[in-house]
Amino acid sequence: MRDSDAGPGPVTVVGLGLMGQALAGAFLQDGHPTTVWNRTAAKAEHLVARGATLADSAHDAVTASPLVVVCVSDYDAVHELLDPLGDALAGRVLVNLTSGPSLVARETAEWAARLGVTYLDGAIMAVPAGIGTADAAILYSGSRSAFDLHEPALRSLATETTTFIGEDPGLSALFEMAMLGVMWGVLNGFLHGAALLGAAGVDATAFAPIAKMGIGTVADWVHDYARQIDDGAYPVLDSTIDTHLATMEHLVHESESLGVSAELPRFVRALAEQAVAAGHGGNGYAALIEQFRTPSGVRA
Ligand code: NAP
Repeated sequence: MRDSDAGPGPVTVVGLGLMGQALAGAFLQDGHPTTVWNRTAAKAEHLVARGATLADSAHDAVTASPLVVVCVSDYDAVHELLDPLGDALAGRVLVNLTSGPSLVARETAEWAARLGVTYLDGAIMAVPAGIGTADAAILYSGSRSAFDLHEPALRSLATETTTFIGEDPGLSALFEMAMLGVMWGVLNGFLHGAALLGAAGVDATAFAPIAKMGIGTVADWVHDYARQIDDGAYPVLDSTIDTHLATMEHLVHESESLGVSAELPRFVRALAEQAVAAGHGGNGYAALIEQFRTPSGVRA
């Protein structure tokens, strides 16, 4: 049953870790009859108190609804959980919101197809507290028709950004990996900076507002850089890679002289050195994309 036929349709959520509990809670919040199951049943208690039905088994859970959402630690756990259910999932829509590499997402889509299961892979760009609000973004890939059919229900999880990005079922996983790389890149830069300032007795809280300003500035550059990457041309918008490289040297030496780890700045410097060696010294920073495109592109 789809949402628009007779109110919110039934859903099943399998996996009630921190994220699964938030997903089930968001469905309940929007009035979906929600069946839940978790290996450790105690994690369902507060959801049951809010109206969820706790299935006796994973088999009973997946056969309770046409739309089954699974969110467990990794894809091995997905298969450990679902493979023994045989064809219980056949004819249903399986939405897998578990994190993993795109290759494994594609293999899981093939596994689902062999069982007659319609498959959507999803990437959650949110923390559990954001689920069910406009702060959550969830990207989906795989079956377009399944997304169209269940989009109203899926909007319970991410009210603004519930987006279908393509029929390649690995795409959402790939977006998630790319996004996590951005997040860790920013956080590692912040932590390295906090370590540098800490060596001079400066609290991280004093650095935070300045770091936030820098992060905002870089965020503003992303669209222009993206266009350059797509065009394959890197005109200078702010400063050349030659100029960046000179300042990177300072960061390496500053780190070394303060006794702070210099691994990250050395890696960043190596990227720029190789871009310069490839003739990009006079280009804008986006030219470094070429160092990321090959497995041997970066030798720190
Ligand atoms: P979690 O709190 O550690 O929960 C893990 C869940 O997986 C639990 O329900 C656990 O069951 C279940 N599980 C693990 N191995 C299993 C197995 N072999 N068979 C059956 N169930 C198994 O993790 P989480 O934070 O909910 O994350 C779940 C997924 O969401 C991960 O892939 C994560 O990367 C993704 N995600 C999380 C966040 C976040 O902020 N938390 C954000 C984006 C994406 P038990 O309760 O019985 O141990």
